[in-house]
Amino acid sequence: MDMGLQGRWALVCAASKGLGRGCAEALAAEGVNVVITARGDEALQATAAAIRAAYPGVEVRTVAGDITTAEGRAAALAACPQVDILVNNAGGPPPGDFRQWGRDEWIAALDANMLTPIELIKATVDGMTARGFGRIVNITSGAVKAPIDVLGLSNGARSGLTGFVAGIARQSAIAGRNVTINNLLPGAFDTERLQKTMAAGAAKTGASADEMAAKRRTGIPAQRFGTAAEFGAICAMLCSAQAGYLTGQNILLDGGAYPGTF
Ligand code: NAD
Repeated sequence: MDMGLQGRWALVCAASKGLGRGCAEALAAEGVNVVITARGDEALQATAAAIRAAYPGVEVRTVAGDITTAEGRAAALAACPQVDILVNNAGGPPPGDFRQWGRDEWIAALDANMLTPIELIKATVDGMTARGFGRIVNITSGAVKAPIDVLGLSNGARSGLTGFVAGIARQSAIAGRNVTINNLLPGAFDTERLQKTMAAGAAKTGASADEMAAKRRTGIPAQRFGTAAEFGAICAMLCSAQAGYLTGQNILLDGGAYPGTF
């Protein structure tokens, strides 16, 4: 199916690795020019080179910087001629006990996983509505739907974003102008972050990282972790011309791990 995205521009945040990279690659495969960001330039350049080699017809621009800062966001926005598609993403907050978190930890989590996406939506949504096309996808977490106790910073900050998005996505000045805003909720995806989480869990329990991973996999009905490529494919689908009637939704990608009917 032609997704009708040829020649569009996407800003994909935090995209040198993992889920962000999966989204950038899937969009590039649809002929979308991409601006990708990450903090470290080396991995970012390697990813850009791989996307250019795989999809020579698209333009790939890179912006090295911290997307959770005003400067990082300004640089990312300046690099994108027009943001038709915005994929909001940043690193997730660390696990821990809420008794140990003070204001600084909370502000960092809110900056990364709530306020940065809101700032980027604010900076881009009016241009989208003026042009009559826009797709915003926020990478959040399955923890928004089924909270994970040690990830309280993530549960809290991402739920704040989710509530905000639920309100603005339904504004007729936005939805009525062919601009959609949806959240993609990853369950367990085989990325560097997941591997680090496994290694940390293994260090605590004395089990090996492989044993931890095997145990986690068996708890997922699909019996495996998701891949960044399949995450990216769903992101591209949400961004397609055909998906204009799909807005304000929270889409869980978890291989069936969430046990509820809805
Ligand atoms: P990852 O660690 O594999 O990749 C993260 C990417 O983001 C890297 O390219 C990194 O350079 C970039 N990045 C991180 N912080 C940044 C910042 N401040 N500014 C710019 N770039 C930044 O992580 P991932 O697994 O792809 O996860 C992406 C998001 O999804 C995270 O917020 C994570 O918490 C969330 N998530 C992941 C999973 C999973 O199973 N992988 C599950 C639930 C939620």
